[in-house]
Amino acid sequence: MGALNDIFGVMFASMSSLKMRAEAGGKHISGAERLLADVELESAAVIMLQRALQHSRGSADKITFSIEEHQDEQIRPGVLPDLTNNLVDDWQQGRDVAQALLVEAGVAEVAAQNALLELHQGAAPGGESMRGAMLIDADSGERLEEDPARGVRASRMDLTDDARQFLEAALNSAGFNNTHVIEALTLAAKVIAAPNLVAELCWSDDPDYTAGYVASGCFGYQRISCLKQQGERRGGRAFFVRTADKDLATTIDWLERVPLLIDQIGTILPGKDWRCC
Ligand code: AMP
Repeated sequence: MGALNDIFGVMFASMSSLKMRAEAGGKHISGAERLLADVELESAAVIMLQRALQHSRGSADKITFSIEEHQDEQIRPGVLPDLTNNLVDDWQQGRDVAQALLVEAGVAEVAAQNALLELHQGAAPGGESMRGAMLIDADSGERLEEDPARGVRASRMDLTDDARQFLEAALNSAGFNNTHVIEALTLAAKVIAAPNLVAELCWSDDPDYTAGYVASGCFGYQRISCLKQQGERRGGRAFFVRTADKDLATTIDWLERVPLLIDQIGTILPGKDWRCC
């Protein structure tokens, strides 16, 4: 852990998860998660701190970091989903595309509609953005997460250095390299590999970033160019699950606790253009 080692006298032998959470007036501003080798922790923490201090959702008055070590044998290898870019005229058309994709992935129409409405209205109490994701029954649309403000947080996932370099090069040549896409692809890889997970829906809570996606094991990561109005602060995620016995413990354990290091990227497939001519 570099300088932190010197301060605390701790030796982290293998990889560690690093988490940052920023809030203002008790409300969520931003969060970030990485899974890193010791030598990378310090520089990654500085980047997270800069992000928390300069976030477009406002300036934080409380920033919390946590670091937790993982032994090599606990870390699972992962694969990124293929990416398809869906171009839409506006957020209303984007939501129609999202609804259709969710149904294609096996989510019931009513469950997809409920999730879109919850995210539109702000899924946390008081119409705010949640800190994590809703867990939604893929058949009934019922919300299953215990805490509607926190939800469930996908955590402890990252790309190997090689996978990150290949991904950046592939995204650059496709014309849309940005940190939102890299982070969201990494998170979606973990989510769609979870037991009992049918699909994921996401749009950002960053008022300047209007794109979002639907991801699933059957068609990968479907980026949608617009899913909300410019300036809108409400965003969020919905993880759709289907379980025979409503036992969510295995799914939540995978999402929040199992460390996943992605060493293989997917393909960037030809885009789909839904815009009117
Ligand atoms: P972002 O894509 O970072 O703008 O996050 C959009 C929304 O997704 C946030 O408002 C949270 O509700 C949710 N979210 C962010 N990070 C996570 C995570 N690690 N796991 C689950 N949900 C998340």
